[in-house]
Amino acid sequence: MKKYIFVTGGVCSSLGKGIAAASMGTLLESRGYRVAMIKIDPYLNVDAGTMSPYQHGEVYVTDDGAETDLDLGNYARFTKSPLSKANSITTGQIYQTVINKEREGRYLGRTVQVIPHITDEIKAQIVRMGSIPDIDITIIEVGGTVGDIESIPFLETARQCIHEFGRENVLSVHLTLVPAVSGDELKTKPTQHSVKELREIGIQPDILLCRAKRELDESMRRKIANFTNVNFESVLSAMDVNSTIYEIPLIYHKQKLDEIVLKKLGLDLREAQLEDWRSMVEGYKNAEKTVTIAMVGKYIDLHDTYKSVDESLVHAAMGNRVKVKIVRVDAEKLEKGAVADEVFAGVDGILIPGGFGERGIEGMIIAAKYARENRIPYLGICLGMQIMVIEFARSVLGLQGANSTEFNEKTPHPVVSLLEEQEGVTKLGGTMRLGRSATHTLPETFIRSAYGQEVVWERHRHRYEFSNSYRHSLTQAGLKISGLTSDGTLVESVEWPGQPWNTGVQFHPEFTSSPTSPQPLFRAFIEAAAQHG
Ligand code: GLN
Repeated sequence: MKKYIFVTGGVCSSLGKGIAAASMGTLLESRGYRVAMIKIDPYLNVDAGTMSPYQHGEVYVTDDGAETDLDLGNYARFTKSPLSKANSITTGQIYQTVINKEREGRYLGRTVQVIPHITDEIKAQIVRMGSIPDIDITIIEVGGTVGDIESIPFLETARQCIHEFGRENVLSVHLTLVPAVSGDELKTKPTQHSVKELREIGIQPDILLCRAKRELDESMRRKIANFTNVNFESVLSAMDVNSTIYEIPLIYHKQKLDEIVLKKLGLDLREAQLEDWRSMVEGYKNAEKTVTIAMVGKYIDLHDTYKSVDESLVHAAMGNRVKVKIVRVDAEKLEKGAVADEVFAGVDGILIPGGFGERGIEGMIIAAKYARENRIPYLGICLGMQIMVIEFARSVLGLQGANSTEFNEKTPHPVVSLLEEQEGVTKLGGTMRLGRSATHTLPETFIRSAYGQEVVWERHRHRYEFSNSYRHSLTQAGLKISGLTSDGTLVESVEWPGQPWNTGVQFHPEFTSSPTSPQPLFRAFIEAAAQHG
C-alpha cells in the first residue's frame, strides 16, 4: 500500500510549511524511502507563471517547463523527488480540467459539483503521483491556512483519503504557531483553535509541529497534546533557527519525527544516513571566511523573489567552505546616481539575476560595466546575460543606444531581440521558452571548466535572445560566445575577454542546485569571489 502525508498549516501563513514538508522528505529519504512531493496552491491562477514576484515570490521552473510555486524549489533542494507539472496543483488547474471534461460531455449529463467531481480530480492527481512504482511516500503540502475558504476542497480530499486508505496509510501533519505574547510566555490557544478547525472538517492531526521562538517544554507539549487529542510524543517543536534552514531536518530528527512518521505508517525503521547532511551543515556553520556578493535587481525589497539564486549562492559557499553574505542592490539607485564605488565597496562578486520589464535596466548596465572595468567576478543569469551583451555593445563596440527590444522597441541596435517566429505572440501565459534543454559549451571557457563537460542541461524561462545579426560584430570586438544550443542557432552563454571569472547564461542554473550538490557555475563564481580582493 502506498503511503501519503498531508501537511497543513494553521493560525497564519509563512510559518515554513514548505521547509517542514521538505525536511520530512529529507529525513524519509535518509532512511532509504523514495519520496514524491506535491504542492497544492489554492489560488485560481492555472500556474504561477503570470504572477508578479511582488505577490508570490520566485517562479520555480521544472524540467518540463512548468512554472510553479517556489516551494517546489525547496523540495528540489531538500529531496530527490521527481519534479514536473504533476507536482504542482492549483485550484485553477483542477477547475480547468473538470470544466474541459464537462464540455467534452464526459460526465454523461450529471450535475458537476465540487464534491465529488472537484475532490475526485484532486484525489486522482495525488494518487497518480503516489502510484509511480518507485515512490513509497507522497508528501502533499496544502498551501494556505486551515480556515481559508479556498482550501476547503483540498482538506476535504485529505479527509476522504484518510477515510478510504486508512489511518495507517495516510497521515495528517499540522504546522501551527505557538506565539510569545508578553515577554517570553508561550501561548497555546491559537494552536488549540486551529486543530479544532481541522477536526471540524473531519481531520484529526497525527503530528503537530509547533512553530515557536524556542523549544517547547514538556508541560507545554502535554497541554497541547491534551487539548488536541494528539499523542504527547507527536507534539514537536519547530523553533526558529538562525544558522541555516538546512539545519531544520536535523532538528526534527533529534525529536524523532522520522521515527514517529514511519511507526505510524507501519514502515520499517531503517537506519538514518544523515552524515553528509550533518557535515554540510556543520561545515557551513564553522566556515571562517565570508564572501560578499552584490545582487543587483529590481525586486530587492522582497525576501523570496530570488529564492533559488540566494540558496544556490549558499550551496556554492558550502562547497567552497566559506560563508556568503548577499547584499541586495536596487538597480534604480544606480540609475539615480548612487556612486558605484560606494555601492560596491567590499564586494567580491556581482550577480545580476533574471527579470522582466524595463525598470532598473540602466542601473543593471551600470553594475555590469562596473564589474567589467573593475575586474570583479560576475555571474549574469538570463536577463543578467542580456545586460552583459548590451553593455559590451555600447561600451566596447560603441553602438550607442544598443538595447533589447524588450526595453526599447525602437533601439537602433537590437542586440537582444525576439526570434522571428515569436513576433506577433500576444498572450503572456505559457508563451516563453521554458524548461530543460541542452547547451554545448565551448572549449577554454569559464563555463566549460566549471561544468567540466561539453553538453550541459539546464532550464530556461525567457522570451528574448541574443540577436544573431550581431554575433559577428560582437565577437569581432572580443565578446566570447561560450555556449550554444545543440543546433548552434542560439547563443546560450557569453563571457568577457581577458577578465577574471565571469559568465552570462541565458538559462537558469539556480533551479538545479542543492546543498549536497552545489551547481557548478555558482560554485566557480563563489570560488573566484573568494579569491578576489
Ligand atoms: N526578460 C528577459 C526575457 O524575457 C529575461 C527573462 C529572465 O531573466 N528570466 O528574455
